[in-house]
Amino acid sequence: MAMRIGALEAGGTKMVLAVGTADGAILEQISMPTVEPELVVPQMAEWFASKNVDAVGIGAFGPTVVNPANPNYGKICFTPKPGWSNYDFLGTMHSICDVPMGYDTDVNVACLGEATFGCAKGLDSVVYITVGTGIGAGVMVGGQLLHGMLHPEAGHILLTVNPDDPGKSVCPKHTRCFEGLASGPSIEARWGAKAVDLADRQEVWELEADYIAQALEIYVTCYSPQKIIIGGGVAHQEQIFPLIRTKLADYLNGYLKTDELDDLDSYVVPNSLNEKQGILGCLELGRRALEA
Ligand code: ADP
Ligand code: ZN
Repeated sequence: MAMRIGALEAGGTKMVLAVGTADGAILEQISMPTVEPELVVPQMAEWFASKNVDAVGIGAFGPTVVNPANPNYGKICFTPKPGWSNYDFLGTMHSICDVPMGYDTDVNVACLGEATFGCAKGLDSVVYITVGTGIGAGVMVGGQLLHGMLHPEAGHILLTVNPDDPGKSVCPKHTRCFEGLASGPSIEARWGAKAVDLADRQEVWELEADYIAQALEIYVTCYSPQKIIIGGGVAHQEQIFPLIRTKLADYLNGYLKTDELDDLDSYVVPNSLNEKQGILGCLELGRRALEA
């Protein structure tokens, strides 16, 4: 019988749980709100146990400890979400549903989903960024999801504030980080309207594309990805993609010459899995945990 793999996309506002197979077929899926962990985590673990899964892959909101060698592996770090700071997420899941579990960040699993089933299939170095309520990047280099000391927090790189920018950062820690200047809430604070209602304001998307392109220039030069995928609510404004590509080319200024950068239309792309990149990445993470 085919392996049954559990997938858990643990987001800051909602949890998505699925059971699927190694080839990326989702057999069933439910979701629940991200309330206090004592209420929601045991319930989720029991759901997976009741579905007789052989393994589970978890993509968690961060910051969280993703290095298995760290004594705090699987714990959520500091967070304003009530009850979640220092919560032993993976440990509690495992104590109720005793199967192999893979554990990584929400953005890393989205990157893994695209690299396994989506537009980055066959590539080994990929950056996936989400531009939504927050900004984060999942990074795969040489086939490995990047962890390092904790995990990349590439939404908090400092950018150059555009001289035409009338707004200021919404990040409580940084006056000019990518998330502070370009997340959905930042757009809304700057322009005084919901991002979705600003669709035909050219200046909004020129500025947004400038910040995204500044960040991509850094990712290209530091991570050397073969493809960059942009997801999250703000990326639904597809008119920003040509603007981002043009500005990225300006910032790179011909310094690097590769086949990938010669074809920016294929290099900087929207997510390709219809918002399933995260849950499918969790499935692959679960499959890998079972294989290991
Ligand atoms: P989250 O980051 O919370 O998981 P999303 O990726 O949907 O969720 O991001 C939500 C943010 O994206 C909000 O700030 C919202 O205004 C913005 N957003 C959602 N849909 C759109 C859209 N179609 N166009 C522009 N902005 C959007
Ligand atoms: Zn910041």
